Amino acid sequence: MHMVRLVYVSRMTEECDTEALQKVLKISRSNNKAKDITGILCYDPAFFLQCLEGPREAVNQLYSEIQRDPRHKDVVLLDYCEVADRKFADWSMAFVAAGDISPQTFETYGGKGKFDPYALSAAEASRFLVQLAAKEQTLLAGQ
Ligand code: FAD
Repeated sequence: MHMVRLVYVSRMTEECDTEALQKVLKISRSNNKAKDITGILCYDPAFFLQCLEGPREAVNQLYSEIQRDPRHKDVVLLDYCEVADRKFADWSMAFVAAGDISPQTFETYGGKGKFDPYALSAAEASRFLVQLAAKEQTLLAGQ
């Protein structure tokens, strides 16, 4: 079996109100568990930054579905690679709201200006998400 890691960024649309976001979070956790997909979803009112990892076919199929979802737009693939290990093995989908991220973490990746996930390289996007998961371990473990 080939295991892959995929990272993309997108912009939230007006369709994605709090209720819609809750539905995304709920369906992601139950669907991903069934498909052996793990990952992390970082979100704020402006963007989503998500990493999906798992069996290649399952990840590819889910990404096709996600791209068509009207709750976001401007979906840009930042990274796609075959991997030996998972970085987010403990989470069917970890969720981190931008409001919970420390200003220092944002500064590391966005400087003093506004954080723009579209400006991240593939390596930076992966490092950012891994750092989030590590720093927010307590928060995530409690979800
Ligand atoms: P469905 O039966 O199609 O619907 C699932 C639930 O979502 C239902 O409660 C339905 O009412 C609701 N829903 C569907 N479309 C909308 C809409 N436009 N507005 C409001 N509610 C709606 N899915 C995953 O399985 N795993 C993921 O990791 C994942 N990540 C996502 C990340 C983002 C940023 C977004 C926007 C969506 C993500 N999704 C994810 C959702 C994905 O795009 C599909 O909606 C979902 O996979 C369909 O699952 P389903 O066929 O089992 O459920």
